[in-house]
Amino acid sequence: MGEIPGARAELDRLGGALRAQLVELISELTPGTGLDLLFLDEPTVVDWHEPLKYRYSTDFRGARAAEVGAAEVARLGAGRLAAAGWTVSQAPEADGSGTVVTGTRDGMSIEIRVAEHVPNVLFSGRTPAMALFTPSFEWPAPVRTPENLTPGYVLCYECDGLGRCPECGGRGWLPDEAAGRVKCPECLGRRVCPICRDAGELAISQLQPFQRGYYPELGKRPE
Ligand SMILES: [Zn+2]
Ligand SMILES: [Zn+2]
Repeated sequence: MGEIPGARAELDRLGGALRAQLVELISELTPGTGLDLLFLDEPTVVDWHEPLKYRYSTDFRGARAAEVGAAEVARLGAGRLAAAGWTVSQAPEADGSGTVVTGTRDGMSIEIRVAEHVPNVLFSGRTPAMALFTPSFEWPAPVRTPENLTPGYVLCYECDGLGRCPECGGRGWLPDEAAGRVKCPECLGRRVCPICRDAGELAISQLQPFQRGYYPELGKRPE
């Protein structure tokens, strides 16, 4: 896989900006909340179609001070975001349980959720999803060929010497239109040929009778 020049640095920059903005909001709207659980350390894959898309995201829960109402927290949050250059909107939750303030900037989004009947304030932040690598996959070379076969062995009938899983080529997954990737049904993600387990060859002396059937040149097993 080839790294896309500058992509990781740009995503890290956005992740850092997102974190700084969240820290500011959390400190102001839910003072005294520890930030130990604000995880924004590594981008994660959010779209498994090639090329994979990564983003930083987090959900964080704080509690507003008892004397500050939910509407006031929403107002403060919206004001703070707007002052920092975010495009801000505010709407009631679909189920009527509270208010959600949404801010967007540079493809990032932050949501602040408040409700009158609970002191919790929920913060979520997302960077845009970005490709970091260009996909590149080369079908592996077989580990065994007629030229380097061990004496007394035959090429594996399942993978023909490949050793790696002959269905997925050793990636452990197959491309899938809906999910992006699905676990390879042949190797179940183990990457190697389920018959020879990466050997590419099988010892003639240990072939099961049904396996000998794949090699008519061996003839019938001597009784
Ligand atoms: Zn095999
Ligand atoms: Zn496979």
